[in-house]
Amino acid sequence: MNPFATLREVRDAVQHGTRSAVEVCTEALARIEAHNPQLNAFNTVTRDEALAQARAVDARADRRSLPLAGVPVAVKDNLCTRGIRTTASSRILERFVPPYDATVVARLQAAGAVVVGKANCDEFAMGSSNENSAFGPARNPWATDRIPGGSSGGSAVAVAAGMSPLALGSDTGGSIRQPAALCGLVGLKPTYGRVSRYGLLAFASSLDQVGPFTRTVEDAAIALSVLAGHDPADATSAPEPVADYVAALGRSATGLRIGVPRTLVHQGVDEEVARAFDEALEVYVRAGATLVDIELPSASAAIPVYYLVATAEASSNLARYDGVRYGFRAKAEGGPGAQDDLRTMYGRTRDEGFGAEVKRRIMLGTYVLSAGYYDAYYLKAQQVRTLIRRDYEHAFESVDVVAMPTSPTPAFRIGERVADPLQMYLADIFTVSANLAGLPAISIPCGFTSGSLPIGLQLTGRVFDESTLLAAAHAYERETSWTSRVPVLSNS
Ligand code: GLN
Repeated sequence: MNPFATLREVRDAVQHGTRSAVEVCTEALARIEAHNPQLNAFNTVTRDEALAQARAVDARADRRSLPLAGVPVAVKDNLCTRGIRTTASSRILERFVPPYDATVVARLQAAGAVVVGKANCDEFAMGSSNENSAFGPARNPWATDRIPGGSSGGSAVAVAAGMSPLALGSDTGGSIRQPAALCGLVGLKPTYGRVSRYGLLAFASSLDQVGPFTRTVEDAAIALSVLAGHDPADATSAPEPVADYVAALGRSATGLRIGVPRTLVHQGVDEEVARAFDEALEVYVRAGATLVDIELPSASAAIPVYYLVATAEASSNLARYDGVRYGFRAKAEGGPGAQDDLRTMYGRTRDEGFGAEVKRRIMLGTYVLSAGYYDAYYLKAQQVRTLIRRDYEHAFESVDVVAMPTSPTPAFRIGERVADPLQMYLADIFTVSANLAGLPAISIPCGFTSGSLPIGLQLTGRVFDESTLLAAAHAYERETSWTSRVPVLSNS
């Protein structure tokens, strides 16, 4: 089978029996074996478990009705998988083997999907380049000296390189949409609460959401239909009914109102990205959509607000990694038999177990929550967050979706920004506000630079209105052919 086949093509082939799940799985594993040494998309390849799952799918009597029959899936390594190590790309969890599956993983498997491995990411999902992984960066298949984006870099690489037609990522401030944009894929961050986070290693609990990477919008709709829904194990998951996202596709763009925050999108955006964005809007207009100039006045503060809220929550969430309950514990100095007191053990464990960016965020977050600074930073950030949410509510009175570039630049070179965290944080300028406001947002391919690097268009929708969002994205996809372009891998 073509390694770049879509999720639907693979699913249909397995449902109709033209391919077995085992054949599909074997091919995916061969592809991973051939390219993972170069691309570093996976921290763990689950060969034996995958083949066993594929055999089980082939044996299922209901195979013909499984929405993800035999579909290989890469799961970001911050989602728990029973019996399979789950590291969050951190030394502190290098040997952590969860006793349970994340709800999203269980749902995928119940729908017939086959987990082929755990995808590389930035440590605890903190980053925009995958360079903060304890296992080294994943590489962008479109240009292997470049980053794939982050933090769900490995998930994006797996799909972009034809290793699996579906991957799961998590998005706290853009970690699905930005790597999707930089790797030429569709990446969907659902509404906060739409998808269960039970079994997701928490980064910033008021922002985190799980979502799919796929090659097409239809595939994203199929995946969301499986992932979405209330989960009694996650108190933040919503009881809101799940729509038929696939049935929502196919609408024309006629009558669609697209909000464009002009002042925001012309700040510091790469020229080729800006051009691709403008051309994408023209495609919409030709297809019958209307452009509406909107203002998101508080969105210019989104980066500082995000880096206050996210670090505060991270500092609290990551307190649990203490060398007692989970994973790694540092050895005491002084050889066998030597013992540290509790505080020294905590300190040493966290010092050796966490990487530089995670430590930076824990310190920032602890600072902004500390007595005397809480009001000035954390509380103020929460207030501005409310303003950002209101900006969107106001905009959605007159538009159906809001369009922005996903990332201000195409994929940058590995190493280019590691010494400059602020520069790195600016990569998130267009993505973080959807998380702060809890809104669904999608990145879809909208062109390439002259150097053949993918560019992404971001659409943001109303809360729990993934149907309109996906339909709007699909209307653009049908007018263009970006998704048919695939990277040329050196040894393919
Ligand atoms: N790049 C952002 C950060 O570093 C977003 C990460 C994410 O969405 N997990 O925090």
